Amino acid sequence: MTFLEVIRIYKEKGLPEREALLLIGKIMNKKKEYILAHINEECPEDHLEEIIQLFEKRKNGYPLQYILGEVEFYGRTFYVEEGVLIPRWETEGLVDICKEYIHKYNLKRVLDIGVGSGVIAVTIAVECKSVQVYGTDISHKAISVAQKNAMRYSVDCDFRLGEFAEPFLDVFDNIELIVSNPPYVREGTVIQKELEYEPAEALFAGYDGLNFYREFFKRYNLEGKIVIMEIGDDQGNYLSSLTGGKVLKDLTSKDRYLVIDKLIS
Ligand code: SAM
Ligand code: GLN
Repeated sequence: MTFLEVIRIYKEKGLPEREALLLIGKIMNKKKEYILAHINEECPEDHLEEIIQLFEKRKNGYPLQYILGEVEFYGRTFYVEEGVLIPRWETEGLVDICKEYIHKYNLKRVLDIGVGSGVIAVTIAVECKSVQVYGTDISHKAISVAQKNAMRYSVDCDFRLGEFAEPFLDVFDNIELIVSNPPYVREGTVIQKELEYEPAEALFAGYDGLNFYREFFKRYNLEGKIVIMEIGDDQGNYLSSLTGGKVLKDLTSKDRYLVIDKLIS
Protein backbone atom coordinates (compact mmCIF):
# COMPACT_ATOMS: atom_id res chain seq x y z
CA MET A 1 0.00 0.00 0.00
CA THR A 2 1.37 3.45 -0.92
CA PHE A 3 1.56 6.37 1.55
CA LEU A 4 -1.19 8.07 -0.44
CA GLU A 5 -3.45 5.06 0.06
CA VAL A 6 -2.65 4.99 3.78
CA ILE A 7 -3.60 8.67 4.01
CA ARG A 8 -6.87 7.92 2.23
CA ILE A 9 -7.74 5.41 4.98
CA TYR A 10 -7.29 8.22 7.51
CA LYS A 11 -9.49 10.59 5.51
CA GLU A 12 -12.19 7.93 5.28
CA LYS A 13 -12.27 7.84 9.08
CA GLY A 14 -13.24 11.52 8.93
CA LEU A 15 -9.89 12.83 10.13
CA PRO A 16 -7.78 15.57 8.47
CA GLU A 17 -5.14 14.31 6.04
CA ARG A 18 -2.49 16.75 7.33
CA GLU A 19 -2.55 14.82 10.59
CA ALA A 20 -2.03 11.53 8.76
CA LEU A 21 1.28 12.83 7.42
CA LEU A 22 2.41 13.68 10.95
CA LEU A 23 1.34 10.30 12.33
CA ILE A 24 3.05 8.35 9.54
CA GLY A 25 6.13 10.53 10.06
CA LYS A 26 6.05 9.79 13.78
CA ILE A 27 6.13 6.01 13.24
CA MET A 28 8.70 6.20 10.44
CA ASN A 29 10.83 8.76 12.27
CA LYS A 30 10.68 11.10 9.27
CA LYS A 31 9.43 14.64 8.72
CA LYS A 32 6.08 15.12 6.98
CA GLU A 33 7.93 16.66 4.02
CA TYR A 34 9.70 13.32 3.49
CA ILE A 35 6.39 11.45 3.38
CA LEU A 36 4.98 14.03 0.94
CA ALA A 37 8.01 13.67 -1.31
CA HIS A 38 7.55 9.87 -1.36
CA ILE A 39 3.76 9.84 -1.42
CA ASN A 40 3.42 7.27 -4.23
CA GLU A 41 5.94 4.85 -2.77
CA GLU A 42 5.09 1.75 -0.79
CA CYS A 43 4.61 2.17 2.96
CA PRO A 44 6.92 -0.41 4.62
CA GLU A 45 4.83 -3.41 5.70
CA ASP A 46 6.35 -3.52 9.21
CA HIS A 47 5.23 0.08 9.92
CA LEU A 48 1.76 -0.21 8.48
CA GLU A 49 0.21 -1.96 11.46
CA GLU A 50 1.55 0.60 13.93
CA ILE A 51 0.33 3.46 11.75
CA ILE A 52 -3.18 2.00 11.56
CA GLN A 53 -3.17 1.54 15.36
CA LEU A 54 -2.36 5.25 15.78
CA PHE A 55 -5.17 6.13 13.37
CA GLU A 56 -7.58 4.16 15.59
CA LYS A 57 -6.32 5.93 18.69
CA ARG A 58 -6.96 9.31 17.09
CA LYS A 59 -10.41 8.16 15.94
CA ASN A 60 -11.18 7.49 19.63
CA GLY A 61 -10.24 11.08 20.48
CA TYR A 62 -6.73 10.50 21.83
CA PRO A 63 -5.03 13.90 21.42
CA LEU A 64 -2.64 14.35 18.49
CA GLN A 65 -0.26 16.34 20.72
CA TYR A 66 0.17 13.38 23.10
CA ILE A 67 0.95 11.10 20.17
CA LEU A 68 3.49 13.52 18.72
CA GLY A 69 4.82 14.42 22.18
CA GLU A 70 5.04 18.08 21.20
CA VAL A 71 2.94 21.20 20.94
CA GLU A 72 3.40 24.76 19.67
CA PHE A 73 3.09 27.61 22.15
CA TYR A 74 4.08 31.24 21.63
CA GLY A 75 6.07 30.30 18.53
CA ARG A 76 8.10 27.56 20.21
CA THR A 77 7.84 23.79 20.45
CA PHE A 78 7.29 22.25 23.88
CA TYR A 79 7.25 18.65 25.09
CA VAL A 80 3.90 17.35 26.29
CA GLU A 81 2.83 13.91 27.38
CA GLU A 82 -0.16 12.21 28.91
CA GLY A 83 -0.59 13.53 32.44
CA VAL A 84 -0.05 17.21 31.59
CA LEU A 85 -2.52 19.64 30.07
CA ILE A 86 -2.11 20.47 26.39
CA PRO A 87 -1.65 24.26 26.36
CA ARG A 88 -4.48 26.34 24.90
CA TRP A 89 -4.20 29.36 22.61
CA GLU A 90 -5.89 31.64 25.20
CA THR A 91 -2.92 31.12 27.48
CA GLU A 92 -0.65 32.94 25.01
CA GLY A 93 -2.70 36.03 25.88
CA LEU A 94 -1.95 35.45 29.55
CA VAL A 95 1.77 35.50 28.74
CA ASP A 96 1.31 38.74 26.74
CA ILE A 97 -0.23 40.45 29.77
CA CYS A 98 2.55 39.17 32.06
CA LYS A 99 5.23 40.49 29.69
CA GLU A 100 3.52 43.87 29.60
CA TYR A 101 3.61 44.15 33.42
CA ILE A 102 7.14 42.76 33.67
CA HIS A 103 8.39 45.45 31.30
CA LYS A 104 6.28 48.24 32.71
CA TYR A 105 7.47 47.73 36.30
CA ASN A 106 10.79 46.03 35.55
CA LEU A 107 9.77 43.00 37.60
CA LYS A 108 12.43 40.44 38.56
CA ARG A 109 10.67 37.57 40.34
CA VAL A 110 7.69 35.67 38.93
CA LEU A 111 5.85 32.64 40.29
CA ASP A 112 3.71 30.45 38.00
CA ILE A 113 1.25 28.31 39.99
CA GLY A 114 0.25 25.10 38.21
CA VAL A 115 3.02 25.04 35.62
CA GLY A 116 1.72 21.96 33.77
CA SER A 117 4.05 21.50 30.79
CA GLY A 118 5.79 24.73 31.82
CA VAL A 119 4.75 26.76 28.79
CA ILE A 120 3.98 29.96 30.72
CA ALA A 121 7.01 29.81 33.02
CA VAL A 122 9.50 28.82 30.32
CA THR A 123 8.19 31.35 27.80
CA ILE A 124 8.55 34.14 30.37
CA ALA A 125 12.04 32.95 31.28
CA VAL A 126 13.08 32.87 27.62
CA GLU A 127 11.51 36.20 26.68
CA CYS A 128 12.41 38.14 29.83
CA LYS A 129 16.00 37.18 30.50
CA SER A 130 16.44 39.15 33.72
CA VAL A 131 13.47 37.52 35.46
CA GLN A 132 13.88 34.65 37.95
CA VAL A 133 10.96 32.29 37.35
CA TYR A 134 9.58 29.98 40.04
CA GLY A 135 6.87 27.40 39.44
CA THR A 136 4.76 24.92 41.38
CA ASP A 137 2.46 22.06 40.52
CA ILE A 138 0.72 19.32 42.50
CA SER A 139 1.61 16.82 39.77
CA HIS A 140 5.02 15.06 39.65
CA LYS A 141 4.59 14.52 35.93
CA ALA A 142 3.99 18.25 35.36
CA ILE A 143 7.11 19.23 37.30
CA SER A 144 9.26 16.79 35.33
CA VAL A 145 7.86 17.83 31.92
CA ALA A 146 8.25 21.52 32.84
CA GLN A 147 11.88 20.85 33.78
CA LYS A 148 12.46 19.13 30.45
CA ASN A 149 11.05 22.16 28.65
CA ALA A 150 13.21 24.56 30.66
CA MET A 151 16.23 22.47 29.66
CA ARG A 152 15.13 22.49 26.04
CA TYR A 153 15.38 26.29 26.07
CA SER A 154 18.36 26.48 28.44
CA VAL A 155 16.57 28.55 31.07
CA ASP A 156 17.04 28.22 34.77
CA CYS A 157 13.54 27.97 36.27
CA ASP A 158 13.02 26.75 39.82
CA PHE A 159 10.13 24.25 39.73
CA ARG A 160 8.91 22.60 42.94
CA LEU A 161 6.21 20.07 43.75
CA GLY A 162 3.44 21.38 45.98
CA GLU A 163 0.16 23.27 46.07
CA PHE A 164 -0.36 26.96 45.41
CA ALA A 165 2.70 28.98 46.51
CA GLU A 166 3.53 26.66 49.43
CA PRO A 167 6.92 25.42 48.13
CA PHE A 168 8.13 29.04 47.90
CA LEU A 169 7.03 30.51 51.22
CA ASP A 170 10.70 31.23 51.95
CA VAL A 171 10.88 33.71 49.06
CA PHE A 172 7.19 34.65 48.90
CA ASP A 173 7.71 38.21 50.11
CA ASN A 174 10.12 38.87 47.24
CA ILE A 175 7.83 37.57 44.51
CA GLU A 176 6.40 40.49 42.54
CA LEU A 177 4.17 38.74 40.02
CA ILE A 178 2.06 35.61 40.45
CA VAL A 179 0.66 34.11 37.27
CA SER A 180 -1.59 31.09 36.98
CA ASN A 181 -3.78 29.22 34.55
CA PRO A 182 -5.50 27.13 37.20
CA PRO A 183 -8.21 24.51 36.81
CA TYR A 184 -11.50 26.40 36.39
CA VAL A 185 -13.98 24.01 34.78
CA ARG A 186 -17.14 23.11 36.74
CA GLU A 187 -17.21 19.56 38.08
CA GLY A 188 -19.59 17.48 35.97
CA THR A 189 -19.28 19.64 32.81
CA VAL A 190 -19.70 17.52 29.71
CA ILE A 191 -16.36 17.81 27.94
CA GLN A 192 -15.14 16.87 24.48
CA LYS A 193 -13.77 13.36 24.01
CA GLU A 194 -10.21 14.68 23.64
CA LEU A 195 -10.27 16.38 27.05
CA GLU A 196 -11.10 13.09 28.75
CA TYR A 197 -7.49 12.04 28.18
CA GLU A 198 -6.19 15.12 30.02
CA PRO A 199 -5.60 15.10 33.79
CA ALA A 200 -8.77 15.94 35.74
CA GLU A 201 -6.83 17.94 38.35
CA ALA A 202 -5.71 20.30 35.59
CA LEU A 203 -9.28 21.09 34.52
CA PHE A 204 -11.84 20.72 37.30
CA ALA A 205 -12.19 22.95 40.34
CA GLY A 206 -15.32 22.16 42.31
CA TYR A 207 -19.06 22.51 41.61
CA ASP A 208 -18.68 26.04 40.20
CA GLY A 209 -15.08 25.82 38.95
CA LEU A 210 -13.95 28.45 41.44
CA ASN A 211 -12.33 26.37 44.20
CA PHE A 212 -8.76 27.21 43.22
CA TYR A 213 -9.36 30.98 43.19
CA ARG A 214 -11.31 30.99 46.47
CA GLU A 215 -8.58 29.08 48.28
CA PHE A 216 -5.71 31.06 46.76
CA PHE A 217 -7.14 34.50 47.59
CA LYS A 218 -8.05 33.37 51.11
CA ARG A 219 -4.61 31.97 51.81
CA TYR A 220 -2.15 34.68 50.77
CA ASN A 221 -1.45 38.29 51.52
CA LEU A 222 -0.97 39.79 48.09
CA GLU A 223 -0.07 43.35 49.10
CA GLY A 224 2.79 44.58 46.96
CA LYS A 225 2.20 42.00 44.22
CA ILE A 226 0.58 41.67 40.84
CA VAL A 227 -1.60 38.63 40.18
CA ILE A 228 -2.54 37.64 36.63
CA MET A 229 -4.78 34.61 36.15
CA GLU A 230 -6.69 32.91 33.40
CA ILE A 231 -10.40 32.51 34.20
CA GLY A 232 -13.53 30.87 32.76
CA ASP A 233 -15.57 33.13 30.48
CA ASP A 234 -18.46 33.33 32.98
CA GLN A 235 -16.35 33.83 36.10
CA GLY A 236 -15.27 37.46 35.57
CA ASN A 237 -17.98 39.18 37.61
CA TYR A 238 -17.56 36.93 40.62
CA LEU A 239 -13.78 37.14 40.58
CA SER A 240 -13.57 40.90 40.08
CA SER A 241 -15.87 41.46 43.05
CA LEU A 242 -13.98 38.89 45.14
CA THR A 243 -10.59 40.47 44.43
CA GLY A 244 -11.18 44.02 43.20
CA GLY A 245 -9.22 43.07 40.07
CA LYS A 246 -10.03 43.94 36.47
CA VAL A 247 -11.15 41.46 33.84
CA LEU A 248 -9.68 41.42 30.34
CA LYS A 249 -11.00 39.67 27.25
CA ASP A 250 -9.41 37.09 24.95
CA LEU A 251 -9.27 37.27 21.15
CA THR A 252 -12.86 36.04 20.86
CA SER A 253 -14.05 38.86 23.16
CA LYS A 254 -14.75 36.54 26.08
CA ASP A 255 -13.79 37.39 29.65
CA ARG A 256 -10.55 35.42 30.12
CA TYR A 257 -7.98 37.15 32.32
CA LEU A 258 -8.04 38.60 35.82
CA VAL A 259 -5.46 41.25 36.70
CA ILE A 260 -4.93 42.45 40.26
CA ASP A 261 -2.35 45.15 40.71
CA LYS A 262 -1.39 45.72 44.34
CA LEU A 263 2.12 46.81 43.58
CA ILE A 264 3.31 49.60 45.82
CA SER A 265 5.59 51.64 43.67
N1 SAM B 1 0.17 26.23 33.07
C1 SAM B 1 -0.16 25.14 32.19
C2 SAM B 1 -0.81 25.67 30.92
O1 SAM B 1 -1.29 26.80 30.94
O2 SAM B 1 -0.86 24.94 29.93
C3 SAM B 1 -1.08 24.11 32.87
C4 SAM B 1 -2.39 24.68 33.33
S1 SAM B 1 -3.55 23.46 33.89
C5 SAM B 1 -5.07 24.25 33.47
C6 SAM B 1 -3.53 23.64 35.66
C7 SAM B 1 -2.33 23.01 36.36
O3 SAM B 1 -2.42 23.34 37.76
C8 SAM B 1 -2.24 21.51 36.30
O4 SAM B 1 -0.94 21.14 35.90
C9 SAM B 1 -2.54 21.02 37.72
O5 SAM B 1 -1.82 19.87 38.10
C10 SAM B 1 -2.10 22.21 38.54
N2 SAM B 1 -2.78 22.44 39.82
C11 SAM B 1 -4.08 22.23 40.14
N3 SAM B 1 -4.33 22.63 41.40
C12 SAM B 1 -3.16 23.13 41.89
C13 SAM B 1 -2.77 23.71 43.14
N4 SAM B 1 -3.64 23.86 44.14
N5 SAM B 1 -1.48 24.12 43.29
C14 SAM B 1 -0.59 23.97 42.28
N6 SAM B 1 -0.91 23.43 41.08
C15 SAM B 1 -2.18 23.02 40.88
N1 GLN C 1 -10.15 26.37 28.69
C1 GLN C 1 -9.81 25.05 29.12
C2 GLN C 1 -10.75 24.02 28.57
O1 GLN C 1 -11.94 24.05 28.83
C3 GLN C 1 -9.77 24.94 30.62
C4 GLN C 1 -8.44 25.26 31.12
C5 GLN C 1 -8.45 25.46 32.56
O2 GLN C 1 -9.26 24.92 33.32
N2 GLN C 1 -7.53 26.23 32.98
O3 GLN C 1 -10.33 23.17 27.86
